[in-house]
Amino acid sequence: MTTIDQLKSDIDERVPDMVALRRDLHEHPELAFEEVRTSGIVAQRLRALGLEVQTGVAKTGVVGLLKGGASQPGAKTIAIRADMDALPIFEMNDIDYRSKVDGKMHACGHDGHTTIALAVADILSKRRAELNGNVKFIFQPAEEVIGGAEPMVKAGAMDGVDGVIGLHLISDYAVGRVGVRVGTVFASADKFVATVRGKGGHAAMPETAVDPIVISAYIITALQTLISRETSPFSPTVITIGKLQSGTAFNIIPETAELHGTMRAFSREHREKMIRRITEVATGVASAMGATCEINFFDGCLPCTNDATMTKLVQKVAVEAVGADNVDEGEEVMTTGSDDMAYFLQAVPGCYFIVGANNAEKGASYPHHHPRFNVDEDAMPIGVEVLTRAALAFLK
Ligand SMILES: [Zn+2]
Ligand SMILES: [Zn+2]
Repeated sequence: MTTIDQLKSDIDERVPDMVALRRDLHEHPELAFEEVRTSGIVAQRLRALGLEVQTGVAKTGVVGLLKGGASQPGAKTIAIRADMDALPIFEMNDIDYRSKVDGKMHACGHDGHTTIALAVADILSKRRAELNGNVKFIFQPAEEVIGGAEPMVKAGAMDGVDGVIGLHLISDYAVGRVGVRVGTVFASADKFVATVRGKGGHAAMPETAVDPIVISAYIITALQTLISRETSPFSPTVITIGKLQSGTAFNIIPETAELHGTMRAFSREHREKMIRRITEVATGVASAMGATCEINFFDGCLPCTNDATMTKLVQKVAVEAVGADNVDEGEEVMTTGSDDMAYFLQAVPGCYFIVGANNAEKGASYPHHHPRFNVDEDAMPIGVEVLTRAALAFLK
């Protein structure tokens, strides 16, 4: 049997355990920074495989180090990252492994990511003797609130790491396909709140007031020109005001209006420019019309930007795993969603790729974060194979 045939059979052998583990995690979802049961299972499994395990990293994160048995001087370390958290959603799927916790659900596939990374750790630990280098397994908490990755990096999770890889299962991308693309694949995301402060008064006497509702309307329109007039058509960017709150009655001009929005961009430079310009436009329009505007950005996330060399390596092994016809490198790999894998990718060169998990016949066709979200579990062995091959290729 060749090494690759051996890998395929190593993966096949583990599929029943992967399905059982993923369903167990699915039944017991835990929200951001509450992944106590999940991280306990992860740590126990990694220890059983003989890895050096660190727990409590960034509260509930786990790091497992697999030290290669054939490391030459200067041997490298690759990190494989998975996220563990669920979402505050009431699951509506009619499946026998439905969430047992009302109001919490694995509606993004992180149960699958945790399972996949554990299977890779299992397979690679059996090959420890032949590894020229180390593999560090990073299980992060709190991806959904963009809160787990950055503190893990600060706690040293990326110290001594030369490259990082990770995947996201995607429910509207066909099972059997793998998407790997150089450059930014997940957008940056920034929430903002702008408070326009005018002067209240009688709706019939606008000349005695400063109307924050009319001013907000101008601000919203002016913000859209940042996309149409100040952003290159080749640089996807989104500004959405999702909430506008003001006023109490038809005959009153209120004192204030509050605009809540989100901004997405595909480069750090453009993100910074947009944050500056949103601030300038909102405060400038308000001031020109006699009001003030205070604007705050929070919970920001960097874009996930893939390194060219790491991406080529993952592309090559993805082609070996699923065939060139099933590997995408185009815009279908990009999303205006965000992911805090960005912080690992910022720390070291890496590649974040997507694995198709859509299969309408199995009911896996709802969007991420939907109460009927599900994945085709046949995506898991594909994810395992690409990550394992990538780690082996990186350490060659
Ligand atoms: Zn999500
Ligand atoms: Zn996710």
